[in-house]
Amino acid sequence: METLGHFINGKAVPGAGTRTLAVFNPATGAQSKQVAVATADEVNSAIEAAAAAFPDWAATPPLRRARVMFRFKDLLEQHADELASLISSEHGKVHSDAKGEVTRGLEVVEFACGIPELLKGEFTENVGTNIDSYSVRQALGVCAGITPFNFPAMVPMWMFPMAIACGNTFILKISEKVPSAALRMAELLKQAGLPDGVFNVVNGDKDVVDQLLHDPRIAAVSFVGSTPIAEYVYSTGTKAGKRVQALGGAKNHLVIMPDANLDQAVDALMGAAYGSAGERCMAVSVAVPIGPIAEPLIERITERARALKIGPGTDKEAEMGPLVTAQHKAKVEGYIAKGVEEGATLVLDGRGLKLQGNEDGYFTGPTLFDNVTPDMSIYKEEIFGPVLSVVRQNSFDDALALVNKHEFGNGAVIYTSDGDTARAFSNGVLAGMVGVNVPIPVPMAFHSFGGWKRSIFGDHAIHGREGVRFYTRIKTITSRWPTGIRKGAEFAMPTMK
Ligand code: NAD
Repeated sequence: METLGHFINGKAVPGAGTRTLAVFNPATGAQSKQVAVATADEVNSAIEAAAAAFPDWAATPPLRRARVMFRFKDLLEQHADELASLISSEHGKVHSDAKGEVTRGLEVVEFACGIPELLKGEFTENVGTNIDSYSVRQALGVCAGITPFNFPAMVPMWMFPMAIACGNTFILKISEKVPSAALRMAELLKQAGLPDGVFNVVNGDKDVVDQLLHDPRIAAVSFVGSTPIAEYVYSTGTKAGKRVQALGGAKNHLVIMPDANLDQAVDALMGAAYGSAGERCMAVSVAVPIGPIAEPLIERITERARALKIGPGTDKEAEMGPLVTAQHKAKVEGYIAKGVEEGATLVLDGRGLKLQGNEDGYFTGPTLFDNVTPDMSIYKEEIFGPVLSVVRQNSFDDALALVNKHEFGNGAVIYTSDGDTARAFSNGVLAGMVGVNVPIPVPMAFHSFGGWKRSIFGDHAIHGREGVRFYTRIKTITSRWPTGIRKGAEFAMPTMK
């Protein structure tokens, strides 16, 4: 059985510890690999390497740092299929979906290629007579990233290209369920000319995260994962004096107005609820039809969901793959049982799905609940599976109030033909990312990604200009040259003359 190790100081290292974690192929249910859990010494050597590499890398002109990003982008394009296959074999998502996430990550690398422009400072001549002021943004030091299982390549690329382009060095702790893509990206970065120690990958779970959160040499932590862990990482990291951005869970609503184009709304819901088996933080898990549009909407979704092609990631025709682990499948199916107990109407039941040839894979079929109410746990909690809940409402105002009362505020979507309604929704909804007739409004790399409410902890969203702000700190220099100094010392509080 292959054992995956770590990537420290420019080299793949096998892993010195005795503890390993199993990595499964979700489509077959078989263990395919194991990953070594980094020992405290190994984590320490990654931090040491990153700290040692920082001064030279921070002093490297942004233009040269950008050139490494350009070469990395090129390598990502050449290896996109290989990375997608690695993702699919450990996560389960279908190949086209895995390739899509590589592309969305690559777009952040493209944005990071513009770092000389992004780091340009501000200059004011003559803030006082013969005195100039300028502000620059400087790198923080060693940054750490902790990422979830559902985007093994894209979410790490939300972080490290920006951090590195800004002049920081980086330690990535990828999800233990999907370690291969990140280790491969570390090799590609080295091939792109990144100096040793600038990017490191350590594998493991809570112990590794805790060590990163407490080590004083780590300046900043980026986290993406579930809300309880995001909150823990935020409070522990900030208490230890670090800058932290921690993105958490979601329950994204899609409101369907009576004037919506029904075909488009149904298409949107199919992809957004069942794509990637619902394991996306921007998945739509709640449909909110207003008035009588509910009946035809439910009818059409049921019909389409029944015809959904489910299969392993290697099947080119498949539209939806398995869930990530046996435990996660049990959790999702537990929620389906709970929904029935709580009194929701189970229109389509995805439990007990057995695929011929993949009988032991972690497949759960598309599931649809009608008559879901806000007090039910299937409404309140994030299920993170192919389960769509319909919460019927009578008016736009009721729908908006419903969305705004939910504890999460990652994304929210409206389908309507009316500009005024769309505007009122975009303006009033308490969510960080809003879609108008767009099902999964994931911002492009040159905008920033981040929710509101308990979907984020910390002040900065991820990538785009927010990414540059998070990974740098501002310094303002006020300078006067010798003729001023010749006038001698001044003892009053300096004011601009
Ligand atoms: P998770 O919170 O279980 O794990 C995330 C990371 O934290 C992993 O690297 C894991 O090893 C580590 N971790 C787990 N338990 C820990 C603990 N007790 N202490 C310290 N570290 C710990 O999340 P997951 O199941 O891998 O991913 C799914 C979740 O991620 C969902 O809730 C989803 O909504 C969320 N997510 C959010 C976004 C976003 O942008 N808001 C994006 C993708 C995923």
